Amino acid sequence: MLFLPTRPGNLVGIDFGHQHVAVAVSDTRGKILGQRRRGHDVDHDVPRAIDMAADMAKEILQEVGGTTPDLTVAGIPCPINRETGAVLPPRSLTGWLDVDAVADLSARLGCPVHLANDASLGSIAELRRGVGRRHRDFIYVKISHGIGAGIVLDGTLRQGAIGVAGEIGHIAVRPGGDLCRCGARGCLETVASSSALRRDLAAVMSLPSAEAMSIGQIAEPAATRVFLDAGAVLGRTLCTLCDALNPAAIVLGGEVGATVPAILTATQQAISAHTQQATASGVAVTTATFGQDNEVVGAIAQATMLAQVA
Ligand SMILES: [Zn+2]
Repeated sequence: MLFLPTRPGNLVGIDFGHQHVAVAVSDTRGKILGQRRRGHDVDHDVPRAIDMAADMAKEILQEVGGTTPDLTVAGIPCPINRETGAVLPPRSLTGWLDVDAVADLSARLGCPVHLANDASLGSIAELRRGVGRRHRDFIYVKISHGIGAGIVLDGTLRQGAIGVAGEIGHIAVRPGGDLCRCGARGCLETVASSSALRRDLAAVMSLPSAEAMSIGQIAEPAATRVFLDAGAVLGRTLCTLCDALNPAAIVLGGEVGATVPAILTATQQAISAHTQQATASGVAVTTATFGQDNEVVGAIAQATMLAQVA
């Protein structure tokens, strides 16, 4: 048998959220050797987020005895044009439109950089290392500050004509409802994102702000009600996807999806109650295999695949 030699620190995976930066370094086979996660207001300071990610990658590389990486895959919370690799704007501007993230990261790390959508990377983690081992058709939903999905059909991530498939956070669920960051009203994100939940939690718990709270660790009855209400709306949206696509699994990730049991419960109940019986009985609703690390694990899995192709 032939075993390829492995070198430490060849591949870098980066997950830029709205409020955090996570970095992992793996060997050539995709085994993660070290990782870091730090909070940062990425949306309002993308250049600093890029600096942080590069510094974190270099720190980990030094720790694991690596040098210049072969390849980096970085996920950002924006749709990306599948043909050109360009960041596509939502209806409001994003800080990612003002920078050349590929060139900036490539200059700092000294290697080629591929940019991807964060929820797409979360679904790649499931495809290569999670539910994809059992199911060829599933939908991964990242529910954090934003909400996005990776749709995997017949074992392949489907990104649509341009690359915007899965942007379910901006499906209108409450016409005329709250204003969304995209400029429209009543989007799913205004009801079930982490920022919408923190707004509602602050109201029911009589707090000036719930910004500092870890959403998954709140167990008060009033909070559970907030989660179940939001989960019911999220679940109804996912029912539509279930009836249209007949997935074998719905996987909930991100800060909200991976850590709040009531969101999982409400989603399961909505799918049981509102999808066709055959569809409902054939779909498992679970939490992300790697919890909040799904996106960075997916970045490493994607880098491993791209490095093998190169
Ligand atoms: Zn919106």
